[in-house]
Amino acid sequence: MPTADATGVRSAYRSVCERIAGACARAGRDPSGVRLVAVTKTFPPERIRELLVCGHGLIGENRVQEALAKMEALGPGPIWHLVGHLQTNKARQAVGRFELIHGVDSERLGREIERRAAGAGLRQALLIQANLSREPTKFGVAEDRVLPLLELLTGLEHVDVRGLMTIPPPVEQAELSRPWFAGLRRLRDRCAERLGRPLPELSMGMTDDFEVAVEEGATLVRIGRALFGER
Ligand SMILES: *Cc1c(COP(=O)(O)O)cnc(C)c1O
Repeated sequence: MPTADATGVRSAYRSVCERIAGACARAGRDPSGVRLVAVTKTFPPERIRELLVCGHGLIGENRVQEALAKMEALGPGPIWHLVGHLQTNKARQAVGRFELIHGVDSERLGREIERRAAGAGLRQALLIQANLSREPTKFGVAEDRVLPLLELLTGLEHVDVRGLMTIPPPVEQAELSRPWFAGLRRLRDRCAERLGRPLPELSMGMTDDFEVAVEEGATLVRIGRALFGER
């Protein structure tokens, strides 16, 4: 699905939206409950603009510096999500600039976001990244550490924990990601019950497996290559 020009992005965007709608129909879900985060890392602002003119305004980046440069280039309009891992020493720059920070995976980072958000007089929305497959190289907290981290972070005044995020191990077929996505949904359900508080967002699914993620309850799908072509 390489997209060489603006026409390419437009038709790729339409196709991704249709595939999300199809997955919603199969799962009996309302498509308005799934938001597409267009992941634009490595692609220049001109390519992002091609998507903005299609009427899509939710953009995801995985590096703070790259995101801030693109925010500057594109000006007001888009809503930005930080989808990748955030280093604690970058929290100051990230807080208040992103509608949602997807990859929070430690008490230390959570407390730093709280401190910076308090200093800026705002409340920062975030997701906790769960590493369900326990791959050692991956960011994210192990399943049994998710509830304790949630309990801690939901007690802070300037962070708003909205839900969970995961990146399953790479697989040959999308269907093989299904157990991880279903697992994240069940973990979310258990945690919400224990906390006595809703955790509405599930960030899961990328180019190779987003339809399965939607069938399993994703509310945010993070998609790059299906829109812009290979990086
Ligand atoms: C790059 C990236 C994506 C998008 O991946 P594609 O395979 O291009 O759809 C999603 N989530 C995160 C955290 C990423 O870094």
